[in-house]
Amino acid sequence: MPAGRAVTRTLVIGGGIAGASVAYFLSRLGAQVTVIDAGLHAASSVPSALINPVRGQSGGVDARALEGMRLTWELLRELEAAGFGVPHGQTGMLRPVPDDKARARFERNLPPKLLHRWLSRDALPVPLPPAWAHALWLPEGGWVDGAAFTRALLEASGAAVIRGQVPSWTAHSATLRGGDGPTLASFHAVIHCGGSIGSGWAGENRTQRMGTLLTLDRAAADVPLSFGAYLAPSAQGGVLGATYETPAQGWRAPALPLASLGWLLGKGEALADLSGVSVTGRWTGSRLSGLKTGRGEDGVWHLSGLSSKGFLLGPLLARELAAQVVQAGR
Ligand SMILES: Cc1cc2nc3c(=O)[nH]c(=O)nc-3n(C[C@H](O)[C@H](O)[C@H](O)COP(=O)(O)OP(=O)(O)OC[C@H]3O[C@@H](n4cnc5c(N)ncnc54)[C@H](O)[C@@H]3O)c2cc1C
Repeated sequence: MPAGRAVTRTLVIGGGIAGASVAYFLSRLGAQVTVIDAGLHAASSVPSALINPVRGQSGGVDARALEGMRLTWELLRELEAAGFGVPHGQTGMLRPVPDDKARARFERNLPPKLLHRWLSRDALPVPLPPAWAHALWLPEGGWVDGAAFTRALLEASGAAVIRGQVPSWTAHSATLRGGDGPTLASFHAVIHCGGSIGSGWAGENRTQRMGTLLTLDRAAADVPLSFGAYLAPSAQGGVLGATYETPAQGWRAPALPLASLGWLLGKGEALADLSGVSVTGRWTGSRLSGLKTGRGEDGVWHLSGLSSKGFLLGPLLARELAAQVVQAGR
């Protein structure tokens, strides 16, 4: 911080991957950061998240996927060098594709700059059931432990972290929950990164989508596999997961209907031989759609609605937002 320049005081509401990344980049720019996080229903505590640039069943690629993916891996290396161990694997990942029509859809969407290769059956890094007609190899993909990544970013940011819920806030202050909870004031910027539950608490009616990961005693494959659902390694073994419940307006408490469990297991069996793999637990979360980033008319800043790309794009968008916040505070 150059001598004589006032420190930008910032308050981040929400400590998921969005809030933790914003805090990390704000600190790097010399801002003083306080994070208030309720620690409830964070989608970012997903036990193993894919870093997957090629999305869904049509192979859509976000315009910023490549940039985002590379920044996420760079951050993980940076955190590791600073002594923050985050379980992850930049292993590459495999997208099995069922037929020629689906492959044509993927091919239309794949930008030349994104490293990829269609593999013949004898070149597969892991065996695939015969029903899959094609397999797309993405050497830059992989997986990360969401909770550990988020925690490491928060710790590395050096931000003051307060555990609690903020029921109301303005562009420069926030009130902590509790009877007449204390008001924290005089911030240059307040940044709302509340994710799904935070959107519900804010009274918004945005689209949310629930999903479940079954945690497994071991990884079904050494590299993530994804089509419809995903199998990936994790710190404790492996996961089988997807975000697949019917989209809903507004927040709903996490639930796993039995029919969904059957659907998920069927998708997993289609990707790999799961005999001998045991389910050890489950994690259910909700993700928020409709990206919201920048400063609102009321002066409050936002980063939310990262949908299924929280770990692919969250850090990149947070870096940009942090730069804007600091710039505006000068
Ligand atoms: C089943 C499932 C699988 C997924 N898989 C992937 C994947 O493979 N790859 C990928 O990139 N993404 C994946 N995602 C999406 C990813 O998890 C989300 O995009 C991302 O975690 C959202 O992060 P966030 O910081 O915006 O919100 P969250 O992680 O939800 O964090 C918000 C935090 O803010 C707190 N909070 C909210 N409001 C307040 C308030 N008023 N006061 C105090 N605290 C508050 C909450 O309690 C919470 O701790 C998946 C999501 C789900 C549900």
